[in-house]
Amino acid sequence: MKIGIVGAAGRMGRMLIAEVLGVEGCQLAGGTEPPGSGVLGQDLGLLIGAAEHGLSIGDDTGALFKASDAVVDFTHPDATAAHAALSGETGVALIVGTTGLEAQHMEALGRAAAKAAVVQAANMSVGVNLLLGLTEQVASALGDDYDIEIAEMHHRHKVDAPSGTALALGAAAAKGRGVNLEDVSDRGRDGEAVPRIAGDIGFSVIRGGDVAGDHTVIFAGPGERVELTHKAGSREIFARGAIRAALWTEGRAPGLYSMRDVLGLD
Ligand code: NAD
Repeated sequence: MKIGIVGAAGRMGRMLIAEVLGVEGCQLAGGTEPPGSGVLGQDLGLLIGAAEHGLSIGDDTGALFKASDAVVDFTHPDATAAHAALSGETGVALIVGTTGLEAQHMEALGRAAAKAAVVQAANMSVGVNLLLGLTEQVASALGDDYDIEIAEMHHRHKVDAPSGTALALGAAAAKGRGVNLEDVSDRGRDGEAVPRIAGDIGFSVIRGGDVAGDHTVIFAGPGERVELTHKAGSREIFARGAIRAALWTEGRAPGLYSMRDVLGLD
């Protein structure tokens, strides 16, 4: 399968190149960065400290889609929407790991999914996708007198907060409770009079160092606490999941799929 990587020089882009080169049945179709980027023209193998590959980083995303069976996108939400349009035009599968997606970006993915297989997940690791299912189950089993708080820590370069994974865990907890996350989400407490509102799902964000991603869902009840935690040791787990998703799209009907579909967890 020919796999293209948009945002090839990013932290995840480099991991994805290494994964494509290491997995049997995958072939690197190319990689792009935006026009004007200082890395254009660099060899994709040399970029990741491997042997020279022969293909270099380009800025022609349309050409990359034409050369690929699936394109993997860990970039920026606006770039993701443009890539979704290309996926819809070409029918080439799109794997989206980019976080911070808002309604208009999801609509762009929805339009692409009418013509191509699109997999979108805020977190592509197997462990986190299990955690999503467990969070929904525990939220549904424990009553309203268990307060739900979600804490996450990521490296100092992460720009969006709370993480897409923390929000997905919040949505899973809300689903378990039969409520909408938008109605109960508390995304920042700061001040003299910010008491906890019953039924809220709270988010705490920590940034620093090179932490790949820690998430804990806390259910704090009368006299006891249940905590579900996942700690990512390396970003490799996301790249591995994304390439697994790309391979899974082969021969797949158009549609918007989740990582839980890819892993068969639903
Ligand atoms: P990064 O800033 O290191 O890399 C992003 C890259 O995308 C940059 O190299 C940038 O130049 C490039 N880019 C931006 N616009 C582009 C365009 N139009 N065409 C081609 N390239 C473009 O960031 P990162 O740490 O690699 O993370 C990228 C995204 O992936 C973030 O949203 C992050 O939260 C998300 N992420 C998701 C998962 C997951 O499992 N779903 C895991 C890790 C990171």
